[in-house]
Amino acid sequence: MTADSEIRFLRRLQRLLEEGQFTSTYKFALLQALADLSVERDADLDGSLRLPIAAIAEKFIEYYWRQLPPFRADAGAASAGTLLQNTDRQAAILQLLAHARSRYDGMLAAARQDSDRFDSLRTRVARVIRQMPLWKLQTIGRQNEEFLYRREDYRQADDTIRLLAGVAGSFRSFHGLVTHLVRGAWVEQIRRIPANRQVLGEATTLPDFLFGTNRAALSGYRNILHDHQGGRCFYCDRRVARNGDLDHFIAWSRYPVDLGHNFVFTHSECNRAKRDYLAHPAHLQRWAEQNLDHGEALSGFFADAKLPHDIHRSRQVAVWAYEQGERSSAHVWLRGKDVGVLAPEWRNAIISVADMRLAAEQLGPIQPV
Ligand SMILES: [Zn+2]
Repeated sequence: MTADSEIRFLRRLQRLLEEGQFTSTYKFALLQALADLSVERDADLDGSLRLPIAAIAEKFIEYYWRQLPPFRADAGAASAGTLLQNTDRQAAILQLLAHARSRYDGMLAAARQDSDRFDSLRTRVARVIRQMPLWKLQTIGRQNEEFLYRREDYRQADDTIRLLAGVAGSFRSFHGLVTHLVRGAWVEQIRRIPANRQVLGEATTLPDFLFGTNRAALSGYRNILHDHQGGRCFYCDRRVARNGDLDHFIAWSRYPVDLGHNFVFTHSECNRAKRDYLAHPAHLQRWAEQNLDHGEALSGFFADAKLPHDIHRSRQVAVWAYEQGERSSAHVWLRGKDVGVLAPEWRNAIISVADMRLAAEQLGPIQPV
């Protein structure tokens, strides 16, 4: 994609955020879902990307699930209430989720494990998405500005839409910026809904409530990873006590998601020294080995503890983060104050045993000469 077309993409996106007419916050969830799925999935060779509506629905569930508990402006606040995500009454998807949340004590991973019920929830959410934001998102005023996907490309057979060539690439390039714009507009919309004003008051903690990390879940990961790493710090390999730190291997500031395989257990000094840098490819290689190639055991522990995890997604996000890092000549952290420029060889570090097996299968059997 050329610089011109990337700027055009951002302008149009900005118009959608500013001018599109919505009484609910669905349009923000939809844009965020398209951006996230562009990072987590590989585009086709022509740069387009087919997305199942079910995958978009899954994202809606993830975003809104955490926004449902009552919001309390601060610890001492007298009133707490669930925020409306629609002008006059609660948005339909949130009503569906509120029901599911109470059944599973608020734990999304537990809801997912009850797969029949979860499938039916996702189907109902998908239906709302198809009826509401999907075909309205790109309508500005009376004009139809289909620059992300086209109505005519909807395929009923597998219930998918297709992001136009270059769209997924732009979302990958500008993921941080898009996330920032979408969240800012989302927060504003929630503040504008009259019924929310009483709950919100002057609270400044709203962005963290809507999009922050889920601290309650983190302690569960901590114990699992401490044991999985044999009580040693992921980065320096020295012994570390149980009260060490849980580090987002791909920093939260780069991609805000809490998924089991993206965590490593570290000394707090090592964690602090790493800051928001990408880890050196030597760390990336160990991360790929420990958490991906031998990650099934971990998946089992996460599943038992009902903690969110997804090996495939964690890997896609890591590859994306290093690709972006390489493009922008990012620095990588090795240890202490030792920082260098990311070299293209990082790719070798994350080629897993599974990839090599797959490549061998695609090449076919070796012919005798
Ligand atoms: Zn350490």
